[in-house]
Amino acid sequence: MSTAGQNDGAIREVLVVGGGTAGWLTACHLARKLRPTEPGGVRVRLVESPDIPTIGVGEGTVPAVRQSLQYLGISETEFIRECDATFKQSIKFCGWMQDASHYYHHVFDYPQRDPLDLTPYWLMGQAGERSYAETVGIQAAMCDAGLAPKQITQPEFAGVTNYAYHLDAGKFSALLTRHATQKLGVELIKANVEQVHLTPAGDIDRLSTDRCGDLHADFYVDCSGFSSLLLGQALEVPFIDRSDVLLADHALAVQVPYPEENSPIPCETLATALPGGWVWDIGLVSRRGTGYVYSSNHISHEQAEQQLLDYLRASLGERAEQYSARRIPMKVGYRDSFWARNCAAIGLSQGFVEPLEATGLLMFDATARMLAEQFPAHRDLMPLLSERFNHRVRFAWERVIDFIKLHYCISDRDDSEFWRDNRRTETIPETLRENLAIWRHQPPSDYDFSSRLEIFNLENYLYVLYGMNFPTQMDAIGYRYGQPADALKSAQRIAQSAAQAGEHLLSHRELIQRIHQYGLQPI
Ligand SMILES: Cc1cc2nc3c(=O)[nH]c(=O)nc-3n(C[C@H](O)[C@H](O)[C@H](O)COP(=O)(O)OP(=O)(O)OC[C@H]3O[C@@H](n4cnc5c(N)ncnc54)[C@H](O)[C@@H]3O)c2cc1C
Repeated sequence: MSTAGQNDGAIREVLVVGGGTAGWLTACHLARKLRPTEPGGVRVRLVESPDIPTIGVGEGTVPAVRQSLQYLGISETEFIRECDATFKQSIKFCGWMQDASHYYHHVFDYPQRDPLDLTPYWLMGQAGERSYAETVGIQAAMCDAGLAPKQITQPEFAGVTNYAYHLDAGKFSALLTRHATQKLGVELIKANVEQVHLTPAGDIDRLSTDRCGDLHADFYVDCSGFSSLLLGQALEVPFIDRSDVLLADHALAVQVPYPEENSPIPCETLATALPGGWVWDIGLVSRRGTGYVYSSNHISHEQAEQQLLDYLRASLGERAEQYSARRIPMKVGYRDSFWARNCAAIGLSQGFVEPLEATGLLMFDATARMLAEQFPAHRDLMPLLSERFNHRVRFAWERVIDFIKLHYCISDRDDSEFWRDNRRTETIPETLRENLAIWRHQPPSDYDFSSRLEIFNLENYLYVLYGMNFPTQMDAIGYRYGQPADALKSAQRIAQSAAQAGEHLLSHRELIQRIHQYGLQPI
């Protein structure tokens, strides 16, 4: 028996608790690294409840997921076919400024910086009249034209532009389950965990289940969702509530059809601001996933339902009334530590912020991989490794919160208390306030994002700041940028390339259809 504290200190067995996307992705990362089927490898098991449903939302991703699929050995064709998946090149923010017609793209391609950084010239009005994203790259125009990010002849995971996916969360979990159990050697146990037993020293000793007896392991990963069964409940690691910064605390989620059978599939997540929050609208192959993230301290649940219905009516007419949304309370914040004793938490059990930038999968994918890479060879290493893990993951959460808050606090919307409260200084983290103070007088630079652990970097900030007309005063530093003619030429070349992109790229729906029919070339 390999009960914690009763063996020679080697870590031979790990047990993941919870079979949502976080649990299965964690199991895949652990098994890929710890090689359960090889002699000397670590046994990886996952226990999931046959009764407690997964959260069932989480359809937007960021480009890092592509590297993970590739690393885990999942084929892109198989993923697209089985997960109802589509491509995502941007988040299109509509109505985030007082001018209701305003929109901007947060695209995934880097803004052009070579041979010339166009940002300062755009800020000085010397790079043409187009929006920031249209000036520094072709991707915003490609999204507006409904073009796919790659050609059918390109191999899996390669693209003309940088891209992520929209996916069906339930189908993605099912694909990960098959991959983990059939290809990576993860063992699945179907049971409800009823009790968590601790050793006298306070480590997790074993879990009692309703139908598979007691389960022992040397190391546990809590992927039990918002309930945080192991880390939160059994080990009593407190939750740090960050609803003082991010004010939305509920979501209404509903799956709806396209207006017509063959409607174009948007290649971006639509994020439309409303008086009490914002609506996500994600196009999969066969349906849309939509939902309203809102603050119940600013609007009632009934008002939120009505506002979401009004939003859906704009595309579906009276048909919108057939669909009723599921209300999901959201606990915004993160655990005081993410790895305590012989247990780490990944997924909703670790922390959560609203899905504005699809940070859910991004955070648990990044932390699962970090855990797998740094997995302790021996119990004695746990205190040191856990301290480092906690430091890194906390830093990542804090930076994610800064970035989400940015979208709210630089808005000039003045039509409701929700938007005005979001600008109150005391709701803005100090790190973000400091950055904004600097960026009022000079554009952001790589040195503002110098940690390898940053989740969002210079390019992400540039698209949001200047998509939202953030006023960087260039008068005092204009002398540093002496190539306005080259900047204008460069911007014109980009506009030409964007106009020509349609000649060699299919529409998004057409590419998806062809992938279903023919597949992509495996790498
Ligand atoms: C409104 C909303 C929108 C979101 N949108 C996005 C998005 O666009 N992009 C994104 O990346 N993320 C998004 N997320 C986050 C994303 O949904 C989650 O991070 C992701 O689904 C992972 O959830 P999880 O696996 O941690 O938890 P869950 O899906 O809740 O899974 C928990 C698992 O634990 C099991 N379990 C619980 N208790 C027990 C027990 N006693 N015994 C055995 N098993 C147990 C359950 O059966 C289940 O299998 C969103 C979240 C919300 C709330």
